[in-house]
Amino acid sequence: MADKGIGVNRCATHGEYYMDAADSECPACQDEDPAGAGEGSEENISHGSVHPDYPPLDWRNEVMQDNTRRSYQDWVASEIEQRLDDEPDYKDPGFQD
Ligand SMILES: [Zn+2]
Repeated sequence: MADKGIGVNRCATHGEYYMDAADSECPACQDEDPAGAGEGSEENISHGSVHPDYPPLDWRNEVMQDNTRRSYQDWVASEIEQRLDDEPDYKDPGFQD
């Protein structure tokens, strides 16, 4: 049945594929898995920029509790604005990639 490669293996996601080597991974999985897999769980945050003092998780909690409808970056900006009222010396480190 294997007329290409050295054999056929089965991917749970993509079905059967031909192996070039005994430990070949599914080529479709490799295509879908560019560098940096595992990142990207924070959806809707543009360009992956994160503010170190205001983690996206905090923002998501606020959104889930319906305390804000702002985007992450707008929310951070307003949090910092309020913080500066109390802490005028606070140095905003800015968004970081
Ligand atoms: Zn696959």
